[in-house]
Amino acid sequence: MNNHIQPSKQVLWYLQNKKPLKCTQDMHVDVAVIGGGIAGLSAAQAFASRNKKVALFEQHFCGSGATGKGSGFVTPNSELSLSDFSHQTDNEKSQELWKFINNGLEKIRTNTLDYNFDCGYTSQGGLFVANCDRTLKNIQEEHKKISMLGYESQLFGKKEISSILGSQLYFGGMTYGNSFGINTYEYCKSLQQHLEQNGVSIFEETPVTQINDHTLTTPHATITADYIIVCVDKFLPELAVMEDQIYHAQNFILVSEQLNDDQIKMIFPEKPYMVWDSQLIYNYFRLSKDRRLILGGGDMFSLYAKEESHNYQRGYNKIINYFQKMFPKANIQFEYQWPGLFGISKDLAPIATPDSKYPHIYYIAASAGLPIATALAMYSAEHLLDGKKDMDAYFAPKRKYFIDGILQKILGKKISFAVNNLLIQKTLGCFK
Ligand SMILES: Cc1cc2nc3c(=O)[nH]c(=O)nc-3n(C[C@H](O)[C@H](O)[C@H](O)COP(=O)(O)OP(=O)(O)OC[C@H]3O[C@@H](n4cnc5c(N)ncnc54)[C@H](O)[C@@H]3O)c2cc1C
Repeated sequence: MNNHIQPSKQVLWYLQNKKPLKCTQDMHVDVAVIGGGIAGLSAAQAFASRNKKVALFEQHFCGSGATGKGSGFVTPNSELSLSDFSHQTDNEKSQELWKFINNGLEKIRTNTLDYNFDCGYTSQGGLFVANCDRTLKNIQEEHKKISMLGYESQLFGKKEISSILGSQLYFGGMTYGNSFGINTYEYCKSLQQHLEQNGVSIFEETPVTQINDHTLTTPHATITADYIIVCVDKFLPELAVMEDQIYHAQNFILVSEQLNDDQIKMIFPEKPYMVWDSQLIYNYFRLSKDRRLILGGGDMFSLYAKEESHNYQRGYNKIINYFQKMFPKANIQFEYQWPGLFGISKDLAPIATPDSKYPHIYYIAASAGLPIATALAMYSAEHLLDGKKDMDAYFAPKRKYFIDGILQKILGKKISFAVNNLLIQKTLGCFK
């Protein structure tokens, strides 16, 4: 394995980006969406499907945020599992939340398949693996809960896991049968094109600098809208909104050369899975449709870094070393690598809420997962147009945190988020 690749500042799939359309004229629309990641594009789709005139404003290009840098696991379990939800809230609500997230997952699938999105769709089960006996017990519990809800899942012990993953070092695992993989950047581009063909105006290189009641300010035009959906994730504090409640976490992605059949069989003796493990800062890998291994993870020192750490080779080496330890015989060369930041809250649950003063403005942030970002985007339309409120309480901001208020001011945002995230994982008894 090659540990000395040149760090690339380009995300592999950005290279074919087309010329953007900037907004230069004032306008009025029914709905203005800010942010061209999966949440913003899905919100634009949800409102457009209700015959609303929608315009979306993206500061760079669609997919340039967390969405286009990700590893493309579309699985209901992202930062929080069904077991975590059932520790956070009552049983009935946790099941409702799980269905809510699965609706987001199915929306991504139906968009991809119904409209023939060319975004590397691969129908691979999600495989959650245990790094020790203790975490295997939690995985068994999660499997039981998932199966009871009627979702497809398989449980593997230590012996069985080594027949589906070419490593002797995992202790077992479970599958989330309805998961699949996509290239998230290409998904954004395909959804963007689909929306444009259906009458949604999408303006790139058009940052929104201010939101005031029904008015958005951009560098070259002023926009008014009946509803404003703010889907900027970790950038929300830059708009002076919920500054103390949104921060970010950093992960690194490595993409290998195209693998041959022998290399693939060495990792996945039966068939490819999308795998993540039970470590506190978890490692994950999957095979893309074009047969590259996408490997991801993070490290404690850079997890809460202020900015993307492009030249932090130690982070990439940690992930490569992990993979090498787990699959010592797989001789894989990595060709691309990049860092990415995604928005998080203090308790790892998303924030979705109307503005306290202007209820026609709706914020979605800290989704920390593609299905949930999509589900919240669909919910924003139901909330604003139909008055749906059943999920409001769970996603409302100002929840109870271990470190908040004055203590957060004293400790600083970075330390407060790190401690809150760690403590919530301990309290939930998460797998990590
Ligand atoms: C390395 C990495 C790997 C990941 N892997 C996975 C995975 O495998 N599976 C999974 O479910 N999740 C994964 N995630 C998390 C997931 O990508 C995010 O939770 C999700 O994409 C967030 O979507 P979003 O639309 O809310 O945010 P973003 O994609 O960040 O979109 C926000 C957009 O808003 C724009 N914007 C910001 N400010 C303004 C402004 N003022 N005006 C106009 N536009 C603005 C930004 O440019 C950006 O494009 C990963 C994240 C990273 C970083």
